Order: sequence, then structure tokens, then C-alpha cells
Amino acid sequence: MKLIIASNNKHKIYEIKKILGGCFEEIVSLKEAGIDHETVEDGTTFMENAIKKAREISLLSGVAALADDSGITAHALGDEPGIFSARYSGGHGDDEANNALLIERLKDKDDKGAHYTCAMALSYPDGRLVTAEGFMYGSIIEEGRGERGFGYDPIFVPVGESRTVAEMTDEEKNAISHRGKALEELLLKLD
Ligand code: IMP
Repeated sequence: MKLIIASNNKHKIYEIKKILGGCFEEIVSLKEAGIDHETVEDGTTFMENAIKKAREISLLSGVAALADDSGITAHALGDEPGIFSARYSGGHGDDEANNALLIERLKDKDDKGAHYTCAMALSYPDGRLVTAEGFMYGSIIEEGRGERGFGYDPIFVPVGESRTVAEMTDEEKNAISHRGKALEELLLKLD
């Protein structure tokens, strides 16, 4: 069976192909599938958004679709930025501004703890749905380090690590990341 990944983010696509490659005959991105569709992410949780994205793409395409919704939550800030991680500072996907705002909001807080969440939803055109969730715990530092990864990775140090996620290789990140863990759980459910 063919699987469409409801994303054009090359980091996510690489990670998903590596873990789920054996379960599907072909795995393609939205762009490769020729689909130009933007889901309105108006859910109140990561999972609601992931399910909405996956459902829309599988209905549009008539094949299985996998979507994820992810973000970071700083413990001293309640749910912030949470589902608004990509547009925390206003503009969508402005990583530098988002990181600067998170550092600023945590400046006077003793608790720098944070975690990433990844909700995954796999929707089949016949209505079946498989979901999984993964987390990565760590803390936010004040000076970004590293060139790899994306988003909040330069300011996020996972528990038990001294490096930021942006200082790790893709393989090292995937082995401990929220997305890697959600995909592993999804894989178990598919088997
Ligand atoms: P989305 O799941 O593509 O909507 O991503 C939401 C936002 O969460 C991204 O734009 C990033 O700011 C942040 N985010 C999600 N996963 C990661 C990650 O693995 N590293 C860094 N930032 C992430």
C-alpha cells in the first residue's frame, strides 16, 4: 500500500521513511503526491490536529496518509508555546524569533524544564485510524548551540545530555526524539 506523508518537511520525511519504510510499498511527500493542500490547524491538542491533517489527506488522495503535529512545552509557562510552537512569536516558522521569545519568557524562571510532544495519526481511506504519541524531556538554555535539526533544537538539551539537539546527528536525535518514539509506537501498532 502507498503512504502519503502529510508534510513537506524534509527532516520529518527522512525520519518517517527510515522507520516505516518496510511497512508500505511506497512512501511519498505531499508534494511528490501532487497534493497542494493546507489543513487549518484549529484543534486544541496536538492529536486533534494530527488526526484532522491525516483524515483530510487520505480522503483527498484515496490512499493512506500519515500526519504529525508536534511542538514544545515549557513547564514554567503552563502549556506555552505548545500547539502554537511554530508561530509562537507571530510569523509561522520564524525559528530565531521563536527561540528568542522562549528564552525571554523563561529568563526569570528557575524551572527551565521543557518537553517536546509528537502526535502521529495514520488514516486509511476506509476510515481506519491508528495513533501514537512520543515525548522528549529536557531543558532550555539561554545561548543557542549547533547547526543541525530545526526549530527549538539549538536551545534544547535533552535529559542526560550536555549537547543541544542541534549538536546531534540525525541518527542520534531520531533515537531519542519525540517523533522517533511516536513512530516506534506506531510501528508496533501496525505489526
Ligand atoms: P509542526 O508539527 O510541523 O506543526 O511543528 C510545530 C513546531 O514545533 C515546529 O515549527 C517547531 O518550532 C517545533 N518542533 C516540533 N518538532 C521539533 C523538533 O524535533 N525540533 C525542534 N522543533 C520542533
